[in-house]
This record gives sequence, structure tokens and C-alpha cells, in this order.
Amino acid sequence: MAVADLRPTDEALELRERVRVFMEAHVYPNEAALDREDDEADALIAKLRARAKEEGLWAPHLPPEAGGSSGSFLVYAHLNEEIGRSLWGQLVFNCQAPDAGNGEILWHFGTEEQKRRFLDPLVSGEARSFFSMTEPDVPGSDPTTLQTRAVRDGDDWVIDGHKWFSSGAEGAAFGIVMAVTDPDADPHGRASQIIVPADTPGVEVVRAIPTMGHRGRGWTTHCEVRYTGVRVSVENTLGEIGEGFRIAQKRLGPGRIHHVMRWLGQMQRAFELMCSYALERETFGGPLAEKQTVQNWIADSAAEIHACRLMTLDAAHKIDQGDEARVEVSVIKFYAARVLNDVIDRAIQTHGGRGLTDETPLAAMSMMARGGRIYDGPDEVHKMVVARLILKSFAAGDGWRFE
Ligand SMILES: Cc1cc2nc3c(=O)[nH]c(=O)nc-3n(C[C@H](O)[C@H](O)[C@H](O)COP(=O)(O)OP(=O)(O)OC[C@H]3O[C@@H](n4cnc5c(N)ncnc54)[C@H](O)[C@@H]3O)c2cc1C
Repeated sequence: MAVADLRPTDEALELRERVRVFMEAHVYPNEAALDREDDEADALIAKLRARAKEEGLWAPHLPPEAGGSSGSFLVYAHLNEEIGRSLWGQLVFNCQAPDAGNGEILWHFGTEEQKRRFLDPLVSGEARSFFSMTEPDVPGSDPTTLQTRAVRDGDDWVIDGHKWFSSGAEGAAFGIVMAVTDPDADPHGRASQIIVPADTPGVEVVRAIPTMGHRGRGWTTHCEVRYTGVRVSVENTLGEIGEGFRIAQKRLGPGRIHHVMRWLGQMQRAFELMCSYALERETFGGPLAEKQTVQNWIADSAAEIHACRLMTLDAAHKIDQGDEARVEVSVIKFYAARVLNDVIDRAIQTHGGRGLTDETPLAAMSMMARGGRIYDGPDEVHKMVVARLILKSFAAGDGWRFE
């Protein structure tokens, strides 16, 4: 079978070039100011977002009919190689997690009224949202064990539960909450996704949980959230009642590949920093670039980044063709998460002590990269999924073809 053409179209190339120029002019020079996460940083973000919108580089994960500027996974992958290079890029172009994934499920499953109330403000950039699934008391890896309950009372749901790692909940306008609506149904039919405005009585953002020493602010927080007698209309159910897992699958598949696309940008930036510094820094009578260990880091990183890139573009292309690409998405999720961490780690090691300072973006990149091996499914769970699906195909006598 012929290998798909994964190169960007001329139109995508032109868009990518505009994103690259924008990043050079407006994002990289402002990273240090944005990292301070204070009032000035918030004002700066608002300014950069307005500018990105003005330049037609807005919400590239959504098609133009939904208010975005792309909508093709393959094009989005190429754009994210630029956007993902800075940790702030996704927020500037309004394609940040978890709003991008929430926007996609609202677009696919929302009623007209839900789109008007919740999707439109997300796309315009007036509001942020959060996705509230993981709970402290049960394993997030196995969400069939979720305990948060939504009980029907007339035309309302009454929600009670305890969540954590609801990223971006601080300052968000609404959350999409995964709650058990029918405890007696089969494990994958028990839960529904319910849109909950953050100002509904009983919603309490208890705290932003510091992760790896970082509390965050607004969009960068990971919050503990309690729901106590939270009453919302049954009309806030996203999709059909009991469809929570099916929608989560629809959300998390693309969401995972969005992360990986951005990681491609992070890996390439770390790689460039490693190579440049290896040429510049001299030890024991010669540049680091001449030491074989450093050369091995560069060669291994080049091979691994190239593999990640091709696997990501291939999965994006398959999704564009209507394929769920479950094996491909899980493979790149765990593989790219490891490569991301390894490449950043090698780049830090090459920089010596400087790699741990804020003179380069590597330390901040490293802190963010570690979570990649856990969120949206830990490595081990994706490996389990890959092995299960491949073995199922073997058991059915079909074997497995790499195509
Ligand atoms: C930075 C960050 C942001 C997040 N944002 C969100 C968010 O916005 N919304 C949300 O709902 N959740 C979010 N999460 C939560 C995340 O999805 C969960 O942490 C993840 O699903 C794992 O669940 P858990 O933490 O409960 O770990 P557990 O499920 O308790 O698993 C613990 C460990 O057990 C191992 N393990 C689990 N299953 C297996 C297996 N079958 N075989 C071998 N080993 C296994 C893995 O190593 C795993 O890391 C976020 C997490 C992080 C770190």
C-alpha cells in the first residue's frame, strides 16, 4: 500500500509560515513576561490573542464554519509544530487544552442552544472551560470506577462529587463534568457528560493544586473541585444520557494527538538548543559537539523526533480520512511522551547548570513535559490498549499490518 502524502499543502505552508512569523515577532520575545503569571502577563496575553485573531490565525483546530481557521488534523499538526514550540502558543492562538477538546465535542455533540451558550464564547475567546473527569479517590486510568453522581430530579440533574486535576478551572466559565447517571447500566453506559456553569450554586473550586512546585494561575492551574447538590437542567447533557464514555473517547483521541503535535514543537526547540550549545561550549580542549556522548544524544534525538513526527502526521491523516486510528494515537501518545522527556533531558544535560536556570526555556519545558506521561492516559495504559487491539486482531486471524 502506498505511503500517504503527509506534506503540507501550499495553503497550509503559507498558514504555517504566518504562524512562525507571529511566534518570532510576538510570542518568544514575551515568554519571560508571560512566565511571571501576574496581572501584566494576563494583559499581555489578552493583547496577543486579539492580534492573533485579527491576523486570522485563530482557533486552528476548528473549521471556519465553527469560527476557526483550519479544521484539518493534518494541517493542524503542521501548524502545531510552530505553535507548540512555546508553552504559551496554544493560549495565544485560542487552541489551548482543555478548551480545544471541549470545543470539538460541543461542535460535534452540542445542541444549537448549547453551541450558542457555551461554544460561541469559547471560540470567540471570551470564556475558558474545564474538563472534570478525574477523581482523587478512584483511578483515573479506569474511569468506569468514577463515583461522582448525577441524579435526575424532574427536569434537572443534581450532581454530587469530588474531582481533581480539573485543569484551568480557576476563572473558567463552565466545566464539562463526567458523572454517573445510571449506576446499574453496563460499565461503559453508566456515565454522561454534563455542562455545568461555574457559577452554579454548589460548585466549589477548592484550590489550585501545586504540581511539581507550580501553583499556576487561571489557565495553568490544575484544580480540586467539589460539587455539592449542583442543580443544572437535563438540557445541559452533552449528547445522549449514558453516552459519556463514547464522547470521552471522541474527545480524548483527538485531544491526545493535539498534545503530541505540540510536543513535536517542544522537542524540536529543545533539539535546536542542544545542537547550538554543543557547538558553542568548549570543555577539555574542544567543543561539546566533538564528544561522542553528545553526538549520540543528538543522533538518537534526531531519529526519535523524526519517528514521532511521521507517526503523528500519519495518525492525523488517518483521522482526517474518518479512521479513529486508536492504535496509532495510543502508540504516539506513549512513544512521543517518552521522546519529549528524553530530548529535553539531554538538552538540559548538554547545558550543564545553565539548563536548570531560566536563561533557557528548557527547565520550564521539562517541568511541563513530565505530566505528558500521565495525563490523557498514563504510558502503561496506552501500551495496554495497543497490545490488546493488536492481539485481538491476531486472535481473529487477521494478524497486524503496518499500513
Ligand atoms: C498535568 C495534568 C493535567 C491533567 N488534567 C486533567 C483534566 O483537565 N481533567 C481531568 O479529568 N483529568 C486531568 N488529569 C488527570 C489525568 O488524566 C490522570 O492523572 C490520569 O488519567 C491517571 O489517573 P490517576 O492519576 O488517578 O492515576 P491511577 O489511575 O491511579 O494510576 C496510577 C499509575 O498506575 C499505573 N497503571 C494504571 N493502570 C495500569 C495498567 N493497566 N497497567 C500498568 N500500570 C498501570 C500507571 O503508571 C499510572 O500512572 C491531569 C493530570 C495531570 C498530571
